Amino acid sequence: MPNFSRAALVALALVLLPPTASRAQRAIECPQCADWNVPQRPIRLHGDTYYVGTHGLGAILITSPQGHVLIDGGLPQSAPLIRANVESLGFHMRDVKLILNSHAHYDHAGGIAELQRASGARVMASAWSADVLRSGKPQPGDPQLTIAFDYPAVSNVARFTFEDTLRVGPIAIVPHATPGHTPGGTSWSWRSCDGARCLDFVYADSQTPVSADDFLFTKNTSYPNVIADFERGYATLERLSCDVLLTPHPSVSSLWDRVSPTDGTIGATFVDRDACKRYAANARRALEARVAKERGN
Ligand SMILES: [Zn+2]
Repeated sequence: MPNFSRAALVALALVLLPPTASRAQRAIECPQCADWNVPQRPIRLHGDTYYVGTHGLGAILITSPQGHVLIDGGLPQSAPLIRANVESLGFHMRDVKLILNSHAHYDHAGGIAELQRASGARVMASAWSADVLRSGKPQPGDPQLTIAFDYPAVSNVARFTFEDTLRVGPIAIVPHATPGHTPGGTSWSWRSCDGARCLDFVYADSQTPVSADDFLFTKNTSYPNVIADFERGYATLERLSCDVLLTPHPSVSSLWDRVSPTDGTIGATFVDRDACKRYAANARRALEARVAKERGN
C-alpha cells in the first residue's frame, strides 16, 4: 500500500464518495424547517408502535424480534434525531429492515437516504414515489413541482403494489393509495397489540390541496386526474378500520393533545374510531374550498 498522507486520503475520499453522501449531511432551509425539526423524545404509543419523529414531523417505528419497520424520515436534518430516538428506546438501527414513506416530499422523505445507510434497510415505495426518491427531485405531476425542495436521493428503492401486505417477521403493514397531495401518496395501516388489547393504526398521508401558483387543481396538464384521485383516497380512508389516526404532520391530527410530548402519557382521546372519517371529511371540505376559489377566479 503506497504511503499516502492523511490529507491526500481525505481528498481522494471526497472525490470517490457518491455526491448523495455529502448532500445527505446538508440541511434544507425552509421557513418552517427549524420548527418542524425541534427534537422530540420518542414515545411508546401502543404495543410495538412508537413515535420516533421530531416534534413537527412524524416518523413511526413498529418493532418485532425479527426486525423493525420505519415509516417516514423527516427532513435530511431529522435523520440523526430519528436515529437517536430509535437507539434511545434500546433498539438498533441495523434491525430496521424496511423503510416506508407517506409522500415523497423533502419534509417526509428527506432523511430516508441517511436512515437507509444507517440501517441497511430495504426502502419500498409506490411506483410514482419510487421515481422521486431515486432522483431526490420533485417530478412532474406534483402540484408543488416548482416549490418543493430537492433532497438526498435514495439509491435503492423497491416498488410495492397497493393493498399487498408487506411483512417483516410478524409485522404486517398495508399500503393504501391516497393520492392527490402527490400522485404517489400512500397511507399505511397495521394492527398493534399490547397483550390482548389490539388497536388498528392508520398513518394517513397528507390530504392538503397545496400547490405552486402555476398549478390549478381544476385545470392542469401534469396531473389531470388529481381531483378524482383525492376522492378515491378519501373513500379509502373512510373505509379503513381506524382506532388511532397518525399523520405525517402530527399537528394535523392533534397528536400532542392526545399524547403528552413531555412525558408520553397517552390521553383519553388517543383512540378515536371516527378520526379517519373526520380527517377525510375535513380534506374534502378543503378541496371543495380550493376548487370553488379556482372557479371563482
Ligand atoms: Zn407534502
